[in-house]
Amino acid sequence: MKKVGIVAALLAILFAIPSPALAQVRGLYWTTSGFFGPFPITDLIPSVPKEKAREVTIPVSMWVIDHPKGLVVFDTGNNAAISDGGCKQHWAPGNCDGLKPSQKRDDVIDRQLQKLGYAADKVKVVITSHAHLDHIGNIKLFPKAIHAIQKKELYQAWWPEKFQRAGGVFVMGDFDGPARDFNYLELDGDYDLFGDGSVMILSTPGHTLGHQSVKVKLANGHTILMSQDAIWMQENLDGYPAGLNYSVKDYTNSVNRLKMMRDLENADLFFAHDQDQYKAKGGRWYK
Ligand SMILES: [Zn+2]
Repeated sequence: MKKVGIVAALLAILFAIPSPALAQVRGLYWTTSGFFGPFPITDLIPSVPKEKAREVTIPVSMWVIDHPKGLVVFDTGNNAAISDGGCKQHWAPGNCDGLKPSQKRDDVIDRQLQKLGYAADKVKVVITSHAHLDHIGNIKLFPKAIHAIQKKELYQAWWPEKFQRAGGVFVMGDFDGPARDFNYLELDGDYDLFGDGSVMILSTPGHTLGHQSVKVKLANGHTILMSQDAIWMQENLDGYPAGLNYSVKDYTNSVNRLKMMRDLENADLFFAHDQDQYKAKGGRWYK
Protein backbone atom coordinates (compact mmCIF):
# COMPACT_ATOMS: atom_id res chain seq x y z
CA MET A 1 0.00 0.00 0.00
CA LYS A 2 1.39 3.42 -0.91
CA LYS A 3 1.91 6.04 1.81
CA VAL A 4 -1.02 8.12 0.61
CA GLY A 5 -3.17 5.01 0.78
CA ILE A 6 -2.07 4.29 4.35
CA VAL A 7 -2.82 7.86 5.47
CA ALA A 8 -6.21 7.69 3.80
CA ALA A 9 -6.95 4.38 5.53
CA LEU A 10 -5.91 5.79 8.93
CA LEU A 11 -8.06 8.86 8.43
CA ALA A 12 -11.00 6.65 7.48
CA ILE A 13 -10.58 4.66 10.72
CA LEU A 14 -10.29 7.85 12.79
CA PHE A 15 -13.49 9.26 11.39
CA ALA A 16 -15.31 5.96 11.80
CA ILE A 17 -14.69 5.89 15.57
CA PRO A 18 -17.59 7.62 17.31
CA SER A 19 -16.47 10.48 19.52
CA PRO A 20 -17.21 10.00 23.24
CA ALA A 21 -18.85 13.43 23.13
CA LEU A 22 -21.66 11.73 21.20
CA ALA A 23 -22.64 9.44 24.11
CA GLN A 24 -26.33 8.78 23.64
CA VAL A 25 -29.23 7.68 25.75
CA ARG A 26 -29.23 3.89 26.20
CA GLY A 27 -32.95 3.70 26.78
CA LEU A 28 -36.09 5.53 27.83
CA TYR A 29 -38.88 3.81 29.78
CA TRP A 30 -42.45 5.14 30.04
CA THR A 31 -44.49 4.14 33.05
CA THR A 32 -47.38 5.38 35.20
CA SER A 33 -47.97 6.02 38.89
CA GLY A 34 -51.33 4.21 38.72
CA PHE A 35 -54.27 5.87 36.96
CA PHE A 36 -56.84 8.63 37.62
CA GLY A 37 -60.52 8.14 36.88
CA PRO A 38 -62.86 7.31 35.41
CA PHE A 39 -64.37 10.79 35.15
CA PRO A 40 -65.76 12.93 32.33
CA ILE A 41 -63.05 14.49 30.16
CA THR A 42 -64.85 17.82 30.62
CA ASP A 43 -63.75 17.83 34.29
CA LEU A 44 -60.25 18.54 32.93
CA ILE A 45 -61.00 20.22 29.60
CA PRO A 46 -64.33 22.05 29.92
CA SER A 47 -64.18 23.30 26.33
CA VAL A 48 -64.54 19.82 24.80
CA PRO A 49 -67.94 19.91 23.04
CA LYS A 50 -70.71 17.55 24.11
CA GLU A 51 -70.46 15.35 21.01
CA LYS A 52 -66.76 14.71 21.69
CA ALA A 53 -67.07 14.28 25.46
CA ARG A 54 -66.27 10.87 27.00
CA GLU A 55 -65.25 9.20 30.24
CA VAL A 56 -61.49 8.85 30.65
CA THR A 57 -59.12 6.87 32.88
CA ILE A 58 -55.78 8.57 32.52
CA PRO A 59 -52.16 7.62 33.24
CA VAL A 60 -49.89 9.60 35.59
CA SER A 61 -46.79 9.52 33.41
CA MET A 62 -43.26 9.05 34.73
CA TRP A 63 -40.07 8.40 32.77
CA VAL A 64 -36.75 6.64 33.38
CA ILE A 65 -33.81 7.72 31.21
CA ASP A 66 -30.69 5.53 31.14
CA HIS A 67 -27.73 7.66 30.00
CA PRO A 68 -24.06 6.58 30.20
CA LYS A 69 -23.36 9.53 32.53
CA GLY A 70 -26.20 8.73 34.92
CA LEU A 71 -29.69 7.44 35.58
CA VAL A 72 -32.47 10.02 35.32
CA VAL A 73 -36.08 10.01 36.51
CA PHE A 74 -38.46 12.53 34.94
CA ASP A 75 -41.33 13.08 37.39
CA THR A 76 -41.97 10.93 40.44
CA GLY A 77 -45.77 10.55 40.35
CA ASN A 78 -48.18 10.57 43.29
CA ASN A 79 -46.80 10.39 46.82
CA ALA A 80 -46.37 6.81 48.08
CA ALA A 81 -48.74 7.66 50.98
CA ILE A 82 -51.74 7.82 48.66
CA SER A 83 -51.28 4.15 47.63
CA ASP A 84 -53.75 1.42 48.54
CA GLY A 85 -56.52 3.67 49.82
CA GLY A 86 -54.32 6.05 51.88
CA CYS A 87 -55.22 9.08 49.79
CA LYS A 88 -57.08 11.18 52.34
CA GLN A 89 -54.14 11.15 54.76
CA HIS A 90 -51.98 13.04 52.26
CA TRP A 91 -54.21 14.85 49.73
CA ALA A 92 -57.20 17.14 50.13
CA PRO A 93 -60.23 14.80 50.24
CA GLY A 94 -61.74 16.54 47.19
CA ASN A 95 -58.79 15.46 45.06
CA CYS A 96 -59.08 11.86 46.25
CA ASP A 97 -62.78 11.80 45.36
CA GLY A 98 -62.34 13.74 42.12
CA LEU A 99 -59.17 12.16 40.68
CA LYS A 100 -59.85 8.64 42.04
CA PRO A 101 -56.18 7.54 42.08
CA SER A 102 -55.74 3.78 41.64
CA GLN A 103 -52.09 3.75 42.72
CA LYS A 104 -50.77 0.63 44.48
CA ARG A 105 -47.52 0.71 46.42
CA ASP A 106 -45.89 -1.31 43.63
CA ASP A 107 -46.74 1.49 41.16
CA VAL A 108 -44.52 3.98 43.01
CA ILE A 109 -41.33 4.99 41.23
CA ASP A 110 -38.87 3.24 43.62
CA ARG A 111 -40.55 -0.14 43.04
CA GLN A 112 -40.79 0.53 39.31
CA LEU A 113 -37.05 1.20 39.21
CA GLN A 114 -36.45 -2.05 41.12
CA LYS A 115 -38.54 -3.95 38.58
CA LEU A 116 -36.40 -2.47 35.79
CA GLY A 117 -33.21 -3.53 37.60
CA TYR A 118 -32.15 -0.20 39.12
CA ALA A 119 -31.73 0.83 42.77
CA ALA A 120 -33.45 4.12 43.63
CA ASP A 121 -30.27 5.43 45.29
CA LYS A 122 -28.45 5.12 41.95
CA VAL A 123 -30.62 7.84 40.40
CA LYS A 124 -28.31 10.75 39.63
CA VAL A 125 -30.85 13.31 38.45
CA VAL A 126 -34.54 13.81 39.15
CA ILE A 127 -36.16 16.22 36.70
CA THR A 128 -39.49 17.56 37.94
CA SER A 129 -41.79 19.01 35.28
CA HIS A 130 -43.75 21.01 37.86
CA ALA A 131 -44.81 20.94 41.49
CA HIS A 132 -48.36 19.54 41.18
CA LEU A 133 -49.20 16.56 43.38
CA ASP A 134 -49.03 13.95 40.60
CA HIS A 135 -45.57 15.00 39.34
CA ILE A 136 -43.41 16.00 42.33
CA GLY A 137 -44.98 13.47 44.73
CA ASN A 138 -41.94 11.33 45.55
CA ILE A 139 -38.87 13.57 45.34
CA LYS A 140 -38.18 12.62 48.97
CA LEU A 141 -37.34 9.09 47.80
CA PHE A 142 -34.26 10.60 46.10
CA PRO A 143 -32.35 12.56 48.77
CA LYS A 144 -28.96 12.04 47.08
CA ALA A 145 -29.98 13.06 43.56
CA ILE A 146 -29.56 16.39 41.81
CA HIS A 147 -33.07 17.81 41.37
CA ALA A 148 -33.49 19.75 38.13
CA ILE A 149 -36.41 22.18 38.32
CA GLN A 150 -37.12 25.72 37.19
CA LYS A 151 -36.33 28.23 39.95
CA LYS A 152 -39.71 29.90 39.42
CA GLU A 153 -41.48 26.59 39.98
CA LEU A 154 -39.82 26.21 43.40
CA TYR A 155 -41.07 29.66 44.36
CA GLN A 156 -44.53 28.84 43.10
CA ALA A 157 -44.66 25.49 44.91
CA TRP A 158 -44.06 27.23 48.21
CA TRP A 159 -46.38 30.17 47.61
CA PRO A 160 -48.72 29.60 44.68
CA GLU A 161 -51.05 32.29 43.43
CA LYS A 162 -54.34 32.06 45.28
CA PHE A 163 -56.24 30.84 42.19
CA GLN A 164 -53.63 28.13 41.61
CA ARG A 165 -53.60 27.06 45.24
CA ALA A 166 -57.31 26.41 45.24
CA GLY A 167 -58.11 22.71 45.27
CA GLY A 168 -54.88 21.63 46.95
CA VAL A 169 -52.93 20.66 43.83
CA PHE A 170 -49.66 21.78 45.45
CA VAL A 171 -49.14 19.51 48.47
CA MET A 172 -46.63 20.93 50.93
CA GLY A 173 -45.92 17.47 52.36
CA ASP A 174 -44.37 16.48 49.02
CA PHE A 175 -41.50 18.95 49.28
CA ASP A 176 -41.16 20.14 52.91
CA GLY A 177 -38.80 18.90 55.65
CA PRO A 178 -35.64 17.26 54.30
CA ALA A 179 -36.53 18.18 50.69
CA ARG A 180 -35.82 21.82 51.59
CA ASP A 181 -32.10 21.01 51.67
CA PHE A 182 -31.82 18.85 48.56
CA ASN A 183 -29.44 19.82 45.77
CA TYR A 184 -31.62 21.76 43.34
CA LEU A 185 -30.28 22.57 39.92
CA GLU A 186 -32.34 25.76 39.73
CA LEU A 187 -32.98 26.47 36.09
CA ASP A 188 -34.09 29.55 34.22
CA GLY A 189 -35.00 28.24 30.77
CA ASP A 190 -33.69 25.37 28.64
CA TYR A 191 -30.81 23.17 29.80
CA ASP A 192 -28.61 20.52 28.13
CA LEU A 193 -28.43 18.02 31.01
CA PHE A 194 -25.29 16.05 30.12
CA GLY A 195 -23.76 18.58 27.75
CA ASP A 196 -24.16 16.33 24.72
CA GLY A 197 -27.59 17.34 23.45
CA SER A 198 -29.14 13.95 24.22
CA VAL A 199 -31.32 15.03 27.18
CA MET A 200 -32.65 18.56 26.77
CA ILE A 201 -34.80 20.18 29.42
CA LEU A 202 -37.22 22.59 27.70
CA SER A 203 -38.93 25.49 29.40
CA THR A 204 -42.68 25.12 28.66
CA PRO A 205 -44.52 27.44 31.08
CA GLY A 206 -48.24 28.09 31.13
CA HIS A 207 -49.79 25.13 32.93
CA THR A 208 -47.74 26.37 35.88
CA LEU A 209 -45.33 29.30 36.19
CA GLY A 210 -42.21 27.17 35.71
CA HIS A 211 -43.36 24.06 33.88
CA GLN A 212 -40.70 22.16 31.89
CA SER A 213 -40.71 19.33 29.35
CA VAL A 214 -37.90 17.02 28.17
CA LYS A 215 -36.55 16.06 24.76
CA VAL A 216 -34.47 12.89 24.41
CA LYS A 217 -32.41 11.84 21.42
CA LEU A 218 -32.08 8.05 21.28
CA ALA A 219 -29.00 6.19 20.07
CA ASN A 220 -30.85 5.34 16.83
CA GLY A 221 -31.21 9.05 16.10
CA HIS A 222 -34.94 9.22 16.85
CA THR A 223 -36.24 12.08 19.01
CA ILE A 224 -38.87 11.77 21.73
CA LEU A 225 -40.59 14.76 23.31
CA MET A 226 -42.19 14.28 26.72
CA SER A 227 -44.57 17.18 27.19
CA GLN A 228 -45.85 16.23 30.66
CA ASP A 229 -48.54 18.77 31.61
CA ALA A 230 -47.64 21.26 28.90
CA ILE A 231 -50.05 19.03 26.93
CA TRP A 232 -52.33 16.73 28.91
CA MET A 233 -53.78 14.82 26.00
CA GLN A 234 -54.72 14.81 22.32
CA GLU A 235 -57.77 17.03 22.83
CA ASN A 236 -55.41 19.88 23.82
CA LEU A 237 -53.61 19.50 20.49
CA ASP A 238 -57.00 19.48 18.79
CA GLY A 239 -57.51 23.03 20.05
CA TYR A 240 -59.34 22.56 23.35
CA PRO A 241 -57.26 24.25 26.04
CA ALA A 242 -56.64 22.61 29.41
CA GLY A 243 -58.87 23.86 32.21
CA LEU A 244 -56.01 24.58 34.62
CA ASN A 245 -53.46 27.19 33.62
CA TYR A 246 -51.27 29.79 35.24
CA SER A 247 -51.22 31.66 31.94
CA VAL A 248 -53.28 30.71 28.87
CA LYS A 249 -50.94 32.76 26.66
CA ASP A 250 -47.81 30.96 27.87
CA TYR A 251 -49.65 27.61 27.72
CA THR A 252 -50.57 28.26 24.07
CA ASN A 253 -46.99 29.23 23.20
CA SER A 254 -45.66 26.08 24.86
CA VAL A 255 -48.14 23.82 23.04
CA ASN A 256 -47.09 25.44 19.75
CA ARG A 257 -43.38 25.17 20.58
CA LEU A 258 -43.68 21.41 21.21
CA LYS A 259 -45.86 20.88 18.15
CA MET A 260 -43.35 22.61 15.87
CA MET A 261 -40.40 20.76 17.43
CA ARG A 262 -42.25 17.51 16.78
CA ASP A 263 -42.78 18.43 13.14
CA LEU A 264 -39.29 19.83 12.51
CA GLU A 265 -37.47 16.92 14.14
CA ASN A 266 -39.90 14.21 13.04
CA ALA A 267 -40.21 13.34 16.74
CA ASP A 268 -42.72 11.41 18.81
CA LEU A 269 -44.65 13.72 21.15
CA PHE A 270 -45.88 11.93 24.27
CA PHE A 271 -48.41 13.52 26.64
CA ALA A 272 -48.72 13.26 30.43
CA HIS A 273 -52.31 12.08 30.74
CA ASP A 274 -53.61 10.63 27.47
CA GLN A 275 -55.56 7.41 28.01
CA ASP A 276 -55.34 6.15 24.40
CA GLN A 277 -51.73 7.12 23.75
CA TYR A 278 -50.53 5.42 26.94
CA LYS A 279 -52.52 2.29 26.16
CA ALA A 280 -50.90 2.10 22.72
CA LYS A 281 -47.38 3.25 23.56
CA GLY A 282 -46.77 3.26 27.34
CA GLY A 283 -45.27 0.65 29.68
CA ARG A 284 -42.29 -0.01 27.43
CA TRP A 285 -38.71 0.81 26.56
CA TYR A 286 -37.66 3.12 23.75
CA LYS A 287 -34.10 2.51 22.55
ZN1 LIG B 1 -50.17 19.61 36.53
